Amino acid sequence: MTSALQSLLLILLALGQGYAQPAISRISVSDSLLKSHVFALASTSFRGRETGTDGQQKAAHYCVQSFRQSHLSAVFRIDSIAGSFRQPFFFTSTRVNWFGAGSGFTPGTINQYELLATPPTAKGRTKAASGSNVAGLLMGTDLKHEVLVISAHYDHLGRVGGSIHPGADDNASGTATVLSVASVFDSLARQGIRNRRSLLFVLFSGEEQGLLGSQHFVNNSPIPLRQIIGNINIDMVGRTDAAHGE
Ligand SMILES: [Zn+2]
Repeated sequence: MTSALQSLLLILLALGQGYAQPAISRISVSDSLLKSHVFALASTSFRGRETGTDGQQKAAHYCVQSFRQSHLSAVFRIDSIAGSFRQPFFFTSTRVNWFGAGSGFTPGTINQYELLATPPTAKGRTKAASGSNVAGLLMGTDLKHEVLVISAHYDHLGRVGGSIHPGADDNASGTATVLSVASVFDSLARQGIRNRRSLLFVLFSGEEQGLLGSQHFVNNSPIPLRQIIGNINIDMVGRTDAAHGE
């Protein structure tokens, strides 16, 4: 996981700088930082981070705290005034018949999720659940209007068949990577090494219900989409194979 993160940092530095490389030796990726994020997010107190549950809200709070510590800026506006690290969204869940497709599927019922375009009103009859995306911005210098999004989903399945699925690989590993990359870029900024382009770190929820959070983000982007020059999304980087070592 650390070597993957090191590669990612090199790519980001190349994309963000566009001129002389800073001294790579000054960049340190801490195993213990990555581990502490994965262990926290996959702990039983987060209860598998299912979107719409307390466990997911707790995980969102954890991510916000980490972005604050990395001195990122809030990009979402609540009531057009205060800056927020969170972007709430609402969705409905309906039990529908499922007749299966292909081998290995058995007919039954499944949940079907639908993103709501606007928050439900108190008078409305729609019973909606809510999730939230978390994001923070590191401002660039002369090309700050060009924004690179570095993202991962932080939600997982919650309880399945009565037992909590912690989702250490899917996707506490990707979330930990985004949180750690943000803190590395913060420490670089403190050494006077700043990216020319802005970096927007985004952690989505609602992925397991069908990319609800990322869909909501694109529909309600805090930054005009034309300014977003690319997206590096990180999912399940917690496993290695023989070719990639530890
Ligand atoms: Zn995933």
